[in-house]
Amino acid sequence: MSKVFSIAVFPGDGIGEEVTPVALKLIEQACQMNNTQCEFSVLEAGAAHYQKTGVALPETSLQAAHAADAVLLACMGMPSIRYPDGREIAPQLELREELDLFAGVRPVKTVPNLPLPLADERGRKLDFVLIRESTEGLFASRNRFVMEGESGAEVAKDTQVITRKGSERLFHFAFQTARRRKLLGYPGEVTCVDKANVLGSFYFFRQVFDEVAREYPDIKASHIYVDAAALQLVRQPWIFDVMVTENMFGDILSDLGAGLMGGMGMAPSADIGHSLAVFQPCHGSAPDIMGQGKANPTAMFLSAAMMLDWLGEKHEHAGMVNAAKQINQAVLAAYQSNQLLPIEFGGKDGLEQISDKIFRSLETQ
Ligand code: ATP
Repeated sequence: MSKVFSIAVFPGDGIGEEVTPVALKLIEQACQMNNTQCEFSVLEAGAAHYQKTGVALPETSLQAAHAADAVLLACMGMPSIRYPDGREIAPQLELREELDLFAGVRPVKTVPNLPLPLADERGRKLDFVLIRESTEGLFASRNRFVMEGESGAEVAKDTQVITRKGSERLFHFAFQTARRRKLLGYPGEVTCVDKANVLGSFYFFRQVFDEVAREYPDIKASHIYVDAAALQLVRQPWIFDVMVTENMFGDILSDLGAGLMGGMGMAPSADIGHSLAVFQPCHGSAPDIMGQGKANPTAMFLSAAMMLDWLGEKHEHAGMVNAAKQINQAVLAAYQSNQLLPIEFGGKDGLEQISDKIFRSLETQ
């Protein structure tokens, strides 16, 4: 009997409730086509749950996530619902910390026939991966920021934390990613994005990067300051293969990457640890479009494909790897057909139309 993969599912808030059911259906269809099976447990967490119960991430949901083979999460948070100190409810950050998911993987790859902000007349394609450290950096002081001064409210301080352990495991992950991509014909280069010219913590980050790089002589290692990286991501993003950076810089640059893909509804992501991983589209709960059928589920579908691929690789399960490949091909083919233009690109296609076309495309893979 083939393994049944257990998936902890967090629909979360806003458009998460809309893109999750279609994504589960797509996974079921792809699994069926490959004689494999996923079993879903749909779990509570998020801003709406906090509003109802006073708890953002219930212990039972956290335990279920721990016990699952993988976690699929849509989006969490709602600007109108906040903790008493003003921060937004973001249990996805707690999950990352609790499950020790240190590598945030943000593939930036365009699909055909969409009006994109950058067009290269020589036909060079955007196809790189941004890897974001997800457990420390500037976000480490998220729950520990300090207010100082005579009145107690003169100076606010957040402290950046970069550790050797956190950086080493991140850089090994980045070099291994570049190695796997090199086998598929990519250049085999990792670029460390930092601000080593100004901050000591980033000088340390870069030193650890150089040490780890020596263990991968087959992969080219390079550095870029984050400001220069922002410039190049707009001028000539095709020069990058694998980029690796600190948590906060990664947060910002991954939205830039999603922008290069044309919209938040197109950008998938994964947060990966040594044994568990959470797969989640880059977008938030998008309260401005929730409940209107306007959400683009493509990012959620591509995140689901990343999940199946990760499960397939981890468990050496060819059916899962193929299911992932077929979802990716189905998305590409649906856009290639030139009959799909999501509302976020100024088109007419909302959740239902995009899902239908991608489902039909999957049937022919
Ligand atoms: P966060 O603050 O967590 O990043 P958000 O919901 O405020 O979340 P984003 O998710 O970054 O912001 O989205 C910005 C805008 O992009 C949304 O307001 C929405 O109009 C659009 N958007 C986001 N996701 C989608 C989607 N899946 N389909 C269509 N439009 C989207």
